[in-house]
Amino acid sequence: MATTSLHLLNTFALKASASNFLAVKELEQLKECMPLTRPFLVLGGGSNMLFCDTFDGTIIHNQLHGIEHWQDKNNHYFKVAGGENWHQFVMHCAQQGIGGLENLALIPGSVGAAPVQNIGAYGVELAEVCESVMATDLRTGDEVIFNHQQCQFAYRESFFKTNRYYFIHHVVFKLPKQWQAVLNYGELKAWSRELSNEPTPLSVANEVMRVRNNKLPDPDVLPNVGSFFKNPIVSAHHAQALKSNYSAMPQYKVGHEVKLAAGWLIDQLGLKGHQIGGAAVHENQALVLVNKDNATSRDVMALAQSIIERVTQEYGVTLEPEVNIIGSQGYSTLGLLTKEQNV
Ligand SMILES: Cc1cc2nc3c(=O)[nH]c(=O)nc-3n(C[C@H](O)[C@H](O)[C@H](O)COP(=O)(O)OP(=O)(O)OC[C@H]3O[C@@H](n4cnc5c(N)ncnc54)[C@H](O)[C@@H]3O)c2cc1C
Repeated sequence: MATTSLHLLNTFALKASASNFLAVKELEQLKECMPLTRPFLVLGGGSNMLFCDTFDGTIIHNQLHGIEHWQDKNNHYFKVAGGENWHQFVMHCAQQGIGGLENLALIPGSVGAAPVQNIGAYGVELAEVCESVMATDLRTGDEVIFNHQQCQFAYRESFFKTNRYYFIHHVVFKLPKQWQAVLNYGELKAWSRELSNEPTPLSVANEVMRVRNNKLPDPDVLPNVGSFFKNPIVSAHHAQALKSNYSAMPQYKVGHEVKLAAGWLIDQLGLKGHQIGGAAVHENQALVLVNKDNATSRDVMALAQSIIERVTQEYGVTLEPEVNIIGSQGYSTLGLLTKEQNV
């Protein structure tokens, strides 16, 4: 049977394929395929995917479009189709002077994927502005609306990250009219000190874009999936022990625990530029792995595993991938290199 190439549908530009492909332009198309029995996988912009093999199932590609806007005395509301481009939606709001999303400018991908890992950047997370998520249960075809609480948002986590059988077709956003810029993150803090005028949603979005363009490789030029690993969270006791050995180690309190900067841990080991096959650690951003020269998924996995081993040896901290690793049957783990394990 002919397969569909996923090469142009993942920002790592890995040469993978799928045995079936459904481009969803109308929700009714999904209903016609219910119930889905073979493995299936929902795909947006492919900017958080590591395809390791031919996916032996159906890729459901979200191509739904449309934005509705209404307001009451205190808030703007947007109901946005999951196939809309995230950054374009952010700019759609910022250009109208509607704030709340500007710190999340230039994050690649689709609106439908944004709740899945509760995207976040520069001190703001999607959770803060997400009113509800509208989804189809791909096992039954049932329609479900998840309110904010039911989404179970946490750091790079949500209900949808552990319950992979929902197709998010719309996301509803609530953006308060009383807007306050969030400028307490690194480069934005410095920028805000220099400002002669009050910041606007658009000026903040432009600054976020400038900072990101300077810092992160453009996947169209150097294929990558952004941060490859999550920032690890360790006990306060472990953090204190690390601090006494590495006084410059950045640490951020999260409740009773402490979040470490994965990029810093990797950088301190001198791994920037480290290369296995065609995959490399980015020269400027240790947290970003890049497809430098026709990398295979094996190159990327071998590189990721070597980083995990080095970090564990040095700091006693286990890094976890932020990227979704996809094998022939669906979601998998880095162990796929030696033995495929479905999760
Ligand atoms: C250069 C670069 C920078 C990045 N910076 C950031 C950052 O600052 N912050 C951040 O949080 N992330 C960042 N990312 C990661 C990525 O942009 C986000 O995870 C984004 O939300 C992925 O969107 P996507 O449409 O490409 O999803 P995909 O990669 O296609 O899918 C990601 C996951 O979401 C699921 N999914 C996708 N669409 C749907 C849907 N409609 N319904 C249900 N499930 C769905 C998929 O099944 C998969 O599990 C970055 C990536 C890159 C390449």
